[in-house]
Amino acid sequence: MNLLVLGPQGAGKGTQARRISEAYGIPHVSTGDMFRALDDSTELGRKVKAIMDAGDLVPDDVTVAMIQERLAQADAENGFVLDGFPRNLAQADALDAMLGAIGRTLDAILFFDVPDDIGLQRALSRAAIENRSDDTVEAITRRLELYHRETEPIVEHYRATGKLIPLHAERSIDEVWDEIDDALKVVS
Ligand code: AMP
Repeated sequence: MNLLVLGPQGAGKGTQARRISEAYGIPHVSTGDMFRALDDSTELGRKVKAIMDAGDLVPDDVTVAMIQERLAQADAENGFVLDGFPRNLAQADALDAMLGAIGRTLDAILFFDVPDDIGLQRALSRAAIENRSDDTVEAITRRLELYHRETEPIVEHYRATGKLIPLHAERSIDEVWDEIDDALKVVS
């Protein structure tokens, strides 16, 4: 199964993507996790860290190349759950092209919609727990602004494919999981 989780920060995408990964035996591919894992003693690592700390987006060419390489690895042969990518229309087009070139398509796009105030609140409480250096109020606000401007338009791009599955993402983790599991049983 080739899956995508889509939605603003604090919507619970990462939590549910990890659960999907375990339950369905497909890798959780998170661009945020991959960027955080870069060695910041390298020039690329330092550049990416500065961009992330400001809540801005890493350039598309860097991001798309990283994903292309990741999806070509053996563990993604039977599927993947993408988290944090694509984040704008250019990345969505690049993903369609890269999957098309290997005869694959997305099976479902799980859309986590939550009101801004709930997403903000959840992102701020995560900041207190995880100690991520990009979880400052400024970076969180900037990410939300970029989500509305750059990422939200791709919801319509995917709705047009008929494969978008909207979730009630403001519910509890277990309730959202039940919705996802029911939907994926039909897809798979
Ligand atoms: P996340 O963990 O998904 O919130 O991502 C953390 C940060 O990584 C973002 O604020 C961006 O700086 C960067 N990032 C993650 N995914 C992407 C992407 N698809 N395109 C550009 N930048 C990204």
